Amino acid sequence: MSYTKAMEVSFCPDCSHAVPPHYLFCPQCGADLSHTPDFEGLLDQCLKPLEEMEWRNNRHRLALLLTRLEVLEEGLGLFLEEGRKDPRASCR
Ligand SMILES: [Zn+2]
Repeated sequence: MSYTKAMEVSFCPDCSHAVPPHYLFCPQCGADLSHTPDFEGLLDQCLKPLEEMEWRNNRHRLALLLTRLEVLEEGLGLFLEEGRKDPRASCR
């Protein structure tokens, strides 16, 4: 892949912190960088937490939407009940 040459930083395999390529140890967590894994593996390790975060965010959003839907349904039920009780409140 050509874009590996354009990379001016590498990433710590332990904490995914950006590290200058000539560093032997991660300044963030102190991990040994003298035997860096291949770029594909590093990319996977960098993207994995992001993917997990996105998945968690989506699940959170879905739960939030379902909660709102429940509230809406409840509100709609109350509204329809009100309409039945008081004919003036009905749209029909
Ligand atoms: Zn690190």
